[in-house]
Amino acid sequence: MNIHEYQAKAVLKEFGVPVSRGKAIFSAAEAVDAAKELGGPLWVVKSQIHAGGRGKGKFKEAEAGPAGGVRLARSPEEVAAFAEQMLGRTLVTEQTGPAGKQVNRLYIEDGSDIAKEFYLSALVDRETSRVAFVVSTEGGVNIEDVAHSTPEKIVTFSVDPVTGVQPLHGRKVAKALGLSGDLAKQAGKLVESLYTAFVAKDISMLEINPLIVTKDDRLVALDAKVSFDSNALYKHADIVALRDTTEEDAKEIEASKYDLAYIALEGTIGCMVNGAGLAMATMDIIKLYGEEPANFLDVGGGATKEKVTAAFKIITSDPSVKGILVNIFGGIMKCDVIAEGVIAAVKEVGLTVPLVVRLEGTNVELGKKIISESGLNVIPADDLDDAAQKIVNAVKGAV
Ligand code: ADP
Ligand code: MG
Repeated sequence: MNIHEYQAKAVLKEFGVPVSRGKAIFSAAEAVDAAKELGGPLWVVKSQIHAGGRGKGKFKEAEAGPAGGVRLARSPEEVAAFAEQMLGRTLVTEQTGPAGKQVNRLYIEDGSDIAKEFYLSALVDRETSRVAFVVSTEGGVNIEDVAHSTPEKIVTFSVDPVTGVQPLHGRKVAKALGLSGDLAKQAGKLVESLYTAFVAKDISMLEINPLIVTKDDRLVALDAKVSFDSNALYKHADIVALRDTTEEDAKEIEASKYDLAYIALEGTIGCMVNGAGLAMATMDIIKLYGEEPANFLDVGGGATKEKVTAAFKIITSDPSVKGILVNIFGGIMKCDVIAEGVIAAVKEVGLTVPLVVRLEGTNVELGKKIISESGLNVIPADDLDDAAQKIVNAVKGAV
């Protein structure tokens, strides 16, 4: 689960991470008050969307002006004018895709006098099963570009969970960033605070870009992007409360209500599969035959008829779906339950695209019988290969 920059900063601040003072606002009317409360003389008006690259982003609407989603203001009036221009407008950045994202919240923050911009992130390194840090002197820019053109400017290390964060980790960061004296001490504290927050809040990824040194020698997290491990959210009601569902895919929200593992993708073939491995294999084989999956969907092992119905409805609600492939291997899951779920869903929402069903395993004959007797226009398939070819051909209009 992702949260906004201002929320991430509030979470990190609890652990002692230095951040600037700021106020989140939802309307232009609140902008002047927020600016006056902060006092100035420099403010930054920051679009809050779940995507980076805001500074260099562009608004779709002309009235938002040519400047990007992060703007420096020198008076409360200017803050208000920028707020007026940004709110409700659509910001397109490198990370939003061409459709962009509507800006519904702004963060008005104290402007900093920046001496240097660094990069720092932490993530779960699955290879070592540790929290790993990535640090670079090249901040404020796209870290992927740095990794590509000057990889020697990126320093990484990981923290042993047995000993936890140690002074040596702070020294590594200070060295990588060329910091000494009090700034090196601040780097040590920062790494400790970030690691503690990371573990305590079950963060899966955090990125501070830029981490700055101010002209008066303070280390400040000027941007913050934090994602949480969804499997640990049950432990963190405070984090769940920060969820902004307007930033999420409506189909994914619906799927989470039914405990379905669903991820929307760009393609045209909707997939309903049980088991993550089979779902991946199904996506692969669709690609092999020249089409793209519209989603990843694992209905799980013990799905009920209601769950299958919900899953089918989510797939058909996606206008880019031109064909549906149901691929079920009945183990714990019974093929007749799937068949009944599919039929119930089709009765409710109709079926305007070709549907290929491949059933195998427990109660397969019963499942096939239910489908063939339903009168539905289903294309039956015998195995995965056959099923993939049939749906791809159907979508291409060859059948
Ligand atoms: P994004 O990464 O989405 O573009 P950032 O928060 O990193 O957004 O802001 C982009 C740039 O704007 C930063 O690299 C920094 O140069 C500048 N900036 C952001 N916040 C402040 C601030 N509080 N004071 C001064 N400059 C800022
Ligand atoms: Mg940034």
